[in-house]
Amino acid sequence: MTADPIPFGRPMLDEGAIAAVADVLRSGMLVHGKVTHAFEQAFATRVGARHAIAVSSGTAALHLVLFVRGIGPGHRVAVPAMTHVATAHAVELLGARPVFVDVDDSSGNLDPKALAQESDLAAVTVVHYLGLPCDMAAIKAEAGRCGAFVLEDCALALDASYAGAKVGTLGLAGCFSFYPAKHMTSIEGGMVTTDGDELAAAVVRARAFGYDRSFAERRKPGVYDVIALGFNYRMSEVDAAIGLSQLARLDDFQARRADHFERLRRGLADLDEVTVFAAQQGQAVSSHYCLNATLPRDGSVDRDKIVSYLTSQGIGTSVHYPAAVPLFTYYREKYGYREGQFPNAEWLASQTISLPIGPHLPDDGPERIAAAFKSAIMAART
Ligand SMILES: *Cc1c(COP(=O)(O)O)cnc(C)c1O
Repeated sequence: MTADPIPFGRPMLDEGAIAAVADVLRSGMLVHGKVTHAFEQAFATRVGARHAIAVSSGTAALHLVLFVRGIGPGHRVAVPAMTHVATAHAVELLGARPVFVDVDDSSGNLDPKALAQESDLAAVTVVHYLGLPCDMAAIKAEAGRCGAFVLEDCALALDASYAGAKVGTLGLAGCFSFYPAKHMTSIEGGMVTTDGDELAAAVVRARAFGYDRSFAERRKPGVYDVIALGFNYRMSEVDAAIGLSQLARLDDFQARRADHFERLRRGLADLDEVTVFAAQQGQAVSSHYCLNATLPRDGSVDRDKIVSYLTSQGIGTSVHYPAAVPLFTYYREKYGYREGQFPNAEWLASQTISLPIGPHLPDDGPERIAAAFKSAIMAART
């Protein structure tokens, strides 16, 4: 009998989540309701932000903050070259220019030294790569030099901290994703966190068409004015009910992630071919999205072979992310980027393997993954 497969991620939905969804469906209140409000309150408390605004996705969160801050044509916005394409698309959708900046080779995070080469930036987006917060002090200094604000993409970093504060409170605003494979899910969903009262009010308005008042604030049913341009980026009550039930279990999920990360890191420690970024660097403490095992830059170990072997052993993997964003066809063709311009991002894109450490792993998961990975490396050496 072979051991059960270990997928890269699996949503942890229990009977509590199912019951919470059923309650919402029976209530007849599917949007504009109190469950979304409760989720926002609980999330704001968890992150330590004054405001949390639930939205339909992490991409919507990024788009909204940049939109309400007036980012548009003529603006240059720094984007790390190694991220999910959503970070760049949010800038591009507004007609602004994403200015790609290479990442640091010991963290995969936006490199402040590379950022120092840029000027005339209206905003700097940072992505806490795979859960490790960026070097915020250095990045804020560079942003300050340009008069730019800093927007945090926290999609893979829920609960990570920098100098004792959680991500989502380190810049003008934080953007979170609850896509199923993230630290917690609401199916699709996202959250904006901020301490800014005006920014929060503007995000709330732009989330729902630019209405002047929320559903609950309307004295005459169906009557409102529209005082700004806006989207429909609301979260449904069903999504919020799932999010709220996940939040109640998040301490347990995070403890399991940390334990799995440490055991898997130890299991891979004696492999010279593998680089694993430290989960604590300076003031930054990771929330362990996955364990990135990165192979040598010279391509001496064939990533596809390692991944195929792991797949044959029932071990799921992923890649974060499959290309330096400026080298995706859309950006390459539009702006003329070429290979070699973002060496660290390109190294990660071609040589990294994301290994699972989520709460779904079986008890012996980290040891099984480490053993399979070792076998794959041994085979690659011969
Ligand atoms: C997943 C992800 C996003 C997009 O979030 P969605 O909820 O899928 O829109 C944005 N940025 C990063 C870094 C991500 O990993």
